[in-house]
Amino acid sequence: MKLTRISDHIWSLRLWMIIPVQVWLVKDKDGITLVDAGIPMMAKGILRGIEQLQAGPLRQIALTHGHADHVGGLPRILETNPVPVHAHRIEIPYIEGELPYRAGKRTVAVLPKGATVALREENPGQLSPIGSLTPYFTPGHSPGHVVYYHEEDRVLLAGDLFASRRGRLRKPLFTPDMTEVLRSSAVVGTLKPVRLEVCHGGGVLRAADQLEAYIAKEAKSHAGKAKLGARPPR
Ligand SMILES: [Zn+2]
Ligand SMILES: [Zn+2]
Repeated sequence: MKLTRISDHIWSLRLWMIIPVQVWLVKDKDGITLVDAGIPMMAKGILRGIEQLQAGPLRQIALTHGHADHVGGLPRILETNPVPVHAHRIEIPYIEGELPYRAGKRTVAVLPKGATVALREENPGQLSPIGSLTPYFTPGHSPGHVVYYHEEDRVLLAGDLFASRRGRLRKPLFTPDMTEVLRSSAVVGTLKPVRLEVCHGGGVLRAADQLEAYIAKEAKSHAGKAKLGARPPR
């Protein structure tokens, strides 16, 4: 697994499994914050990456959402590093096996009930920072999806709010509510990160510059698809 420094305080760890799967190590004053936990076979590499950085122990884990390719490494990592795992309160029932992501599918409890810490809300809609990262609620790809912004480095860890290819924003895969995703993606225009990172793809520089074109293109293709779907059967 490749450990790459992407800014002053952030490193990425990436594995290729048909598509790239990426997690991030963020250096804080007192240790490391891990953002997302990848697939199970990444756990060992994540723990090795933390050791390699020599920037203190793992202090906490912050999840963008609970899909299997973002929480797979958790059991093994937590076995030797019992640290708090943070996620948006709306996402927690899916992570703890109370609700399935798709209606009619089985539930999966990655963590036992009550084990996930809900991100604190300072004012309604405003989430409290986790170390040097500020979470922003960005639903659509999953009900409680969040992105994490590192203000000092101006890096946005965007999870599956987008995918990317050759430095361009792409729509995320397996997304139940694309309309809401496009609404949520406005956060990029507000924050104007120097670098945006996604779980499945490479970094995107000055993503705000391509945001308008991306939204217009995807909204159009999505509207077309919605129309096809709405047509009554003959
Ligand atoms: Zn996902
Ligand atoms: Zn994913």
